Amino acid sequence: MQKNPPLDYCEVTPSAAITPSAHGWRAKCLQRLVRLDLPVPQTVALPAQTVRAIAAGHTLDTRAILAHFGATPLVSVRPSPENPDWGGPGTVLNVGMNAGRHMALVQRHGAEAADALYLRFVQSYATHVARLDPDMFDDIKPGPKALDEALRQYEREMDEPFPEDPAQQLSEVLRSMARAWEGTSARLLRQAKGAPVEAALGLVVQAMAQGIGQGLSGSGVIQFVDPVTGLPQVTGRYLGNSQGRDALKKTEAMYLTRDPRGPSLEDLSPEIFGQLAHHGAACRTRLREEMQIEFTIEDGQLSVLDAVKVQRSARAGLKIAVALAQDGIISPEEAVLRVEPRALSELLHPQVDPRGARDVFAKGIAASPGGAVGRLVFSSPAAQASAARGEPCILVRRETAPEDIRGMHSAVGVLTERGGVTSHAAVIARGLGLPCVVGASGLRLETKDKKLTAADGRVFREGDLVTLDGTTGEVLAGAADMLAPALDDSFRTLLGWADAVRDIGIRANADTPADAAQARQFEAQGIGLCRTEHMFFDEDRLVVMREMIFADTSQDRAAALARLLPMQREDFVQLFEIMAGLPVCIRLFDPPLHEFLPHSREGLRELAEALDKPLSDVTRRAEALAEFNPMLGMRGVRLGVVLPEIYAMQAQAIFEATVEIAKKGAPVVPEIMIPLVSARREVELVKTHIDAVAAAVRVKTGVQFDYKLGVMVETPRAALRAGEIAQHAAFLSFGTNDLTQMTYGLSRDDAGRFMNTYVQQGVFPEDPFHILDVDGVGELLHIGAERGRHTRKDLTLSICGEHGGNPESIAFCRRQGFDYVSCSPFRVPLARLAAAHLALADRVDNRKFGTKS
Ligand code: PEP
Ligand code: MG
Repeated sequence: MQKNPPLDYCEVTPSAAITPSAHGWRAKCLQRLVRLDLPVPQTVALPAQTVRAIAAGHTLDTRAILAHFGATPLVSVRPSPENPDWGGPGTVLNVGMNAGRHMALVQRHGAEAADALYLRFVQSYATHVARLDPDMFDDIKPGPKALDEALRQYEREMDEPFPEDPAQQLSEVLRSMARAWEGTSARLLRQAKGAPVEAALGLVVQAMAQGIGQGLSGSGVIQFVDPVTGLPQVTGRYLGNSQGRDALKKTEAMYLTRDPRGPSLEDLSPEIFGQLAHHGAACRTRLREEMQIEFTIEDGQLSVLDAVKVQRSARAGLKIAVALAQDGIISPEEAVLRVEPRALSELLHPQVDPRGARDVFAKGIAASPGGAVGRLVFSSPAAQASAARGEPCILVRRETAPEDIRGMHSAVGVLTERGGVTSHAAVIARGLGLPCVVGASGLRLETKDKKLTAADGRVFREGDLVTLDGTTGEVLAGAADMLAPALDDSFRTLLGWADAVRDIGIRANADTPADAAQARQFEAQGIGLCRTEHMFFDEDRLVVMREMIFADTSQDRAAALARLLPMQREDFVQLFEIMAGLPVCIRLFDPPLHEFLPHSREGLRELAEALDKPLSDVTRRAEALAEFNPMLGMRGVRLGVVLPEIYAMQAQAIFEATVEIAKKGAPVVPEIMIPLVSARREVELVKTHIDAVAAAVRVKTGVQFDYKLGVMVETPRAALRAGEIAQHAAFLSFGTNDLTQMTYGLSRDDAGRFMNTYVQQGVFPEDPFHILDVDGVGELLHIGAERGRHTRKDLTLSICGEHGGNPESIAFCRRQGFDYVSCSPFRVPLARLAAAHLALADRVDNRKFGTKS
């Protein structure tokens, strides 16, 4: 046996030197309760250093500890790690119980109650300390003989009687709890919850406040907010003649406040209930947190054993933080910091209620958050028909293409067998705020038969009711219970506080009036990316678009474009009106033209009919437009250079809309963005055309207006040559979807197939389409920003790829001095909050290091 060093511990008094890092959160919290004059039973705190020494084999003078608890000590031992989320060994109650103490309890409270306490201790000691099999007590029948039988069983198993000496009992309990913390599975478990390798355990030894007695006696827990909604509400349970958390487990437990469903503590003793309410209010104001209080009543005497932070959903977390700040208990900045930005997405969409049952039949990538219940449909026309009947539906496709957009608009959720986080379905669904699961590769999809077979063999057909959980990536059979979105006053108030501190702009990617309205609702500071091609997929426009594509001559093309012009103009008028003077950045046409052509023979036949051309002509033209690598082919600015009429039409529509809006007295300065640039000359050519169109519109209308022309940096070369490109660009916006694709040489539509393996094997730390690759793509952003600003000091810099709404990308862009980030409307609130967190973290750092902000 090693020689004992003097092991440290202290009584929990108002002035004891107790810190969360040395003694753990529970010891510190108990000290705070003591300072609030709450009736906390006598407590001794063992710091982590002492617990480590005990685990290493040193022995503590437990007799000296027990001396703090009077002549006949009866105590509990509870874990106290630095962070409550790290768990720890289970509490052991009634340490010190032996024949003598049992006899005294029999006399005071009767044999039944005394037996129950002793039996409970024997069982928990046998399983937690002596490590005996918990089943060994299964055969013991409840009744007056149960205790003796349990003591006999213990002796039989251990070859020694149950220990009588309280000091020995306490020593063994402390040793087993200290060692349990050091065990491999406990370590792995807490590290999974974010605990550092060196995380240590403190322990608290507390006088037992018995929940049994002749007068009013029992135990319970109480909290003053609803854990799911965060609204003020007393919740918890109370159970007469009980200990620990029994009240939460037993059905006979009673309510706390008066309740028509049964008896309550408030009925039983309004006075004690009043004391609890008073203690709850004291905790809230002085501990600056909503706490759950564990209490015991012994013969009408209330004790507070413990208080823990109320477990809460994201929506409750926000509500509580805002209410604490509104009551002046914490500052608005602290309220902002208390809400995790990623938790906001849970508030923006309906959610699958976490408390309900989940019958999961498929799992994929969680591509767009929120939950939806609907009937399965396997095609976009079926989705539209379902919506027309007023029946919510979930659209299932192998992967989606631009022609599915109308179907997606009609669905309440989208499920695809293929794809990753930046595939078409994922991007569009996030923009629409639709829950979406992509890459559910365990499913077998038979579109023709309208049939879906799950990995477990279950078959789902068109019309079957399912629930899509885009937050977890799961698909559930049947209709799960749902929670409504929580975009209430508290939500708006918190984001208002966030805006007051953040120092980087947040815009939205919005293509349609509905997106723009959503962006305004979430208080985006403008549109950072309007993808104009989506405007051409409406049925009437698609026909004209196809005529334009099939035009043999420049004049025919011009005629088709002339028909598209008023429609485009109207699109921009609507966007400008909705955005009411906020900046709107419009990206000129980007995708390869063949995306607008039908892919089936049937579709080609219909097209031939509509264009009044032979099917063979139409097929030949479609084949001629096909490319081996369309994403690297005739798209973006390349179309603008080869077929300048398309961009000219779009520019004319933008300028005429600008004039129309100006005439209504609400001037806008449109921003026009050229996609997929890789060379300065491309910008020069397009700029020359657009300047000419602007001049023509000014002359024709007699109205002066300004506009900004900028470049979307989506190719590595554009980033490297940003210095010369910036000569012709008022702004650079980094399109990190394509830039990631091109930097890695990784198809954004196919990467989902192997991304999991790549991430699991540590090839990539994260999916780079999801989390910005700061090392590689980030370096290109840095180079592009630096070289661009070197040429033009007032160059506006932004990011508009899907990464725009991620807190990590916002941190990066902020460090690079970007002016704004742009993301899907539904990510705008998250981005506003994340940006505020970053600004507040800088303030703390500045204070720490004495730098001026
Ligand atoms: C991008 O490439 O980052 C981008 C925003 O454009 P799109 O996703 O439309 O290609
Ligand atoms: Mg792009």
